[in-house]
Amino acid sequence: MIYLDNASTTKIDPKVFEAMVPYLTTFYGNPGSLCSLGRKSKKAVDRAREQVAEFVGANPENIVFTSGSTEANNSVIYHSSFHNKGKMIVTSSIEHESVLDAVSGWGKYLNVFRVSPNKHGIITAKSVQYILSRHGNDVALVSIMHTNNETGVKNEIEEIGKICNEYGVPFHTDCTQAAGGERLDVNKLHCDFLSISAHKIHGPKGVGALYVRDPHGFSPMIHGGHFQEFGLRSGTENVAGIVGLGCACQLINSNLDTYVDKINSLREKFVETLRRELVEESDFHINSSAGKVANIMFHDVDGETLRIMLDKEGVCVSAGSACRSHEQEPSYVLTSMGLTPDQARNSLRFSFSRLNNENEVVEAADIVAKKSVFLRYLAAQSKRNQ
Ligand code: PMP
Repeated sequence: MIYLDNASTTKIDPKVFEAMVPYLTTFYGNPGSLCSLGRKSKKAVDRAREQVAEFVGANPENIVFTSGSTEANNSVIYHSSFHNKGKMIVTSSIEHESVLDAVSGWGKYLNVFRVSPNKHGIITAKSVQYILSRHGNDVALVSIMHTNNETGVKNEIEEIGKICNEYGVPFHTDCTQAAGGERLDVNKLHCDFLSISAHKIHGPKGVGALYVRDPHGFSPMIHGGHFQEFGLRSGTENVAGIVGLGCACQLINSNLDTYVDKINSLREKFVETLRRELVEESDFHINSSAGKVANIMFHDVDGETLRIMLDKEGVCVSAGSACRSHEQEPSYVLTSMGLTPDQARNSLRFSFSRLNNENEVVEAADIVAKKSVFLRYLAAQSKRNQ
């Protein structure tokens, strides 16, 4: 199997797994308990908090563990909506559903403004500035993702954070897909809130973290355990998961440049191989090639049919976000960038990780080229027969 769906989730790193095992077996104490086993767990959670804090350039007391980015994103929208009925939330049309749907749900008593990307898929600082210059006093929150999950494209996020700061507007950035792609720093991003998820960085599923600049002023979404996560997120801590997240962060803290170089070179190798195999201009178009993602449109080829054929050949990819993979609708991210619904349906997302290797990437590109040529031939035949 060749796994090129790393924007959906990643394989757990063996080192991460190894770090977690003792907390699933021997050290099963509740970190809230004062007994020795409980204290052992508490120590492990504290250590992981330090590793995550280093990962985002923050202090440990500003890190809250969550069940993942969906919860982290919801918590921020919940907090911002709680005290600000009638005010405005500024977000973008290409956010993950955990922001978009949380805004429609928690933020239903607020006005919502969704900024659109430019044709390269980038949310520009200028577009955010435009809104803040008109509505700055009324804006309860700006929530713009760092890097998009379908295109791998980075928004003008440092500049957006700076502008929010200038207008005194709280700023949240969903860094789920940015994590592992560059060094994150809450101060350079000028953010008040930042979300990450372990399973996108070779950690376990069901655990993530939220950075909160002002924990004292934060209204928690989940109640019930005063001492858990500084009272900001109740529920017995997922100790093994948290240890896994900490370890996944630590690996990146120590090896970021090597990992990033590898991912970039694998993505480039894949695109270069496709270019060599699909020489016709009309064969394919690169919607984006950035970070861990190459999003590619195959002219006259139904993306979902190609995806199924690739799956049968042992190549795992996605047509878009895994959270929407059961929908028939074309990707709203790609249509927001200006692609037609048909062009969006003809597109597939290939996403790479440090655990891929060059041989499998080249082999996958060969298979993709052959199958897409075959499907285009069938489409041409069927047009001729109509
Ligand atoms: N935000 C983005 C950009 C994502 O890609 C994802 C995962 N697809 C999420 C949020 C949700 O993360 P989790 O799976 O940890 O809830």
